[in-house]
Amino acid sequence: MADTDVRSLAELLAANKGHAVALTGAGISTESGIPDFRSPGTGLWNRIDPMEYLSVDALYARPETFWQYFAEVFGPTLAAQPNAGHLALAKLEAAGFITGVITQNIDGLHQKAGSRTVYEVHGHLRTVHCQSCGRTYPMSEALAQLKKEPIPHCSECGGRVRPDVVLFGDMMPAAFSQAVAAVERSSLVLVVGSSLTVSPANSLAFQTPHLAIVNREPTPADGRADVVLSGGAGDTLSAVLRELNLA
Ligand code: NAD
Repeated sequence: MADTDVRSLAELLAANKGHAVALTGAGISTESGIPDFRSPGTGLWNRIDPMEYLSVDALYARPETFWQYFAEVFGPTLAAQPNAGHLALAKLEAAGFITGVITQNIDGLHQKAGSRTVYEVHGHLRTVHCQSCGRTYPMSEALAQLKKEPIPHCSECGGRVRPDVVLFGDMMPAAFSQAVAAVERSSLVLVVGSSLTVSPANSLAFQTPHLAIVNREPTPADGRADVVLSGGAGDTLSAVLRELNLA
């Protein structure tokens, strides 16, 4: 990561102060020990196809397999802690540089880091809800049930429950429309840790006058970005904070 790139990103943030929003993906959370989908070698996609296992079809047709995979992949995530990248975005928001974070992540680490405006366009891991009576309860309860039975059930009515995450095949939630509106109000989108290959969230990187990308690997939007930094999210954003005298 060259000093000039960090300076360029800091200058871009300063020039668009108060009119910028971050768009994060699984890459910002790898430094918290949560594997992403597509990093070579360590990404979940190297082991198993999440599209097959984390889909609405799998939830209904093979619920036992769905929950077994879900608990294995995302159970440990509930205890994860935010890293320097999440903390830096919270500081950028507190200092008025960005208005919030649009995240594709379901891990809740932006809120744990202190970000106040977070658009969770793929839902979150905090809760599940009953598909019969609608009752919502903590994910930790559903995961505890899974230790005793193959599929969690609603403790009120016995109905089947599902996680409050957006699965492949689900409609996008209201948070996505709010994220689109946040991008429309902004002049800069700062992408951090996303391959920008998951639709429609990736479209947000193509709807902005100015674009900055912090990602270890190239993305399909690099060609239209003002600045592309290929370092790790934590180190890069910490350097940007220093450049802005926020560290
Ligand atoms: P992705 O796996 O497709 O891409 C992650 C990108 O981050 C890769 O291009 C990789 O090079 C880069 N990266 C990895 N570590 C990095 C680091 N420390 N610093 C900078 N860049 C880094 O992730 P995506 O674009 O978010 O799309 C995958 C989907 O997977 C999303 O919908 C997301 O909801 C879901 N997912 C979420 C989590 C989570 O909540 N933490 C984890 C796995 C998958």
